Amino acid sequence: MPTLFVIGNWKLNPTKAEAVALLAALESGARARESEGVTVGIAPPFVYLGAFQNRLAASPMLLGAQDVSEFECGAFTGEVSAGMLVEHGCDFVIVGHSERRQRFAESDATVARKVAAAQSAGLMPVLCVGETLAEREQGVTLDVVSRQVGVVLDALDETPGGRLIVAYEPIWAIGTGRTATPEMAEAVHAAIRALLAARGVAVEAVPILYGGSVNAGNAEALFAMPSIDGGLVGGASLKADEFLAIVDAAHAVSAGSAAV
Ligand code: PEP
Repeated sequence: MPTLFVIGNWKLNPTKAEAVALLAALESGARARESEGVTVGIAPPFVYLGAFQNRLAASPMLLGAQDVSEFECGAFTGEVSAGMLVEHGCDFVIVGHSERRQRFAESDATVARKVAAAQSAGLMPVLCVGETLAEREQGVTLDVVSRQVGVVLDALDETPGGRLIVAYEPIWAIGTGRTATPEMAEAVHAAIRALLAARGVAVEAVPILYGGSVNAGNAEALFAMPSIDGGLVGGASLKADEFLAIVDAAHAVSAGSAAV
């Protein structure tokens, strides 16, 4: 049965003491809800990964990082390689988040090299794509997203079935409280799926998550859309009750589709 993903991106939060308490609450909540139909993960800041690796050793919850170097090793001050992330228990890594693209000037080409580095090390890349508000208003959303996905596919040696997750995150919806409607998100997800299929990718093996102000109130309607395979959650992943309510929404959708 395909799984719905609920992945939390903690960004530059929280303090160490808060992080330990939040992890404990999320982990026990995710464990209590464990089922095949929903996969839960969190991406804390790099410095917490080593400690979290131990705490999650026997947990169904996935551990991920928020970024990765395109380089394997060498004179690259401040960088963290994909191999190091694997050694610290990471299952996945978020790549090309709009905050990295916009605030740290990451280009499509850099993002593509990071995806390739993650894959080579055996990490699942979660490739973020999405348009600005101006681009949506100009009607070029699908062009932007197709370019962002296309550059990554061009850079990979082989089709990425089973080794890639895409997250569609309209930039105007991130951290703003403004969510794409399920229909708006579905239209973009379906277009990404069609692009992947046209490039020979086994689309059923590439989950496409939605991100952008997902919360307990809107998650179920979003996850119920046919081309939405779960959510990448920022702000709401810092509140255990809210995040677990989103996990519950995924379980409700998963149970509903299993019953059909
Ligand atoms: C994100 O940063 O990936 C995100 C989706 O943030 P938020 O849920 O806060 O909009």
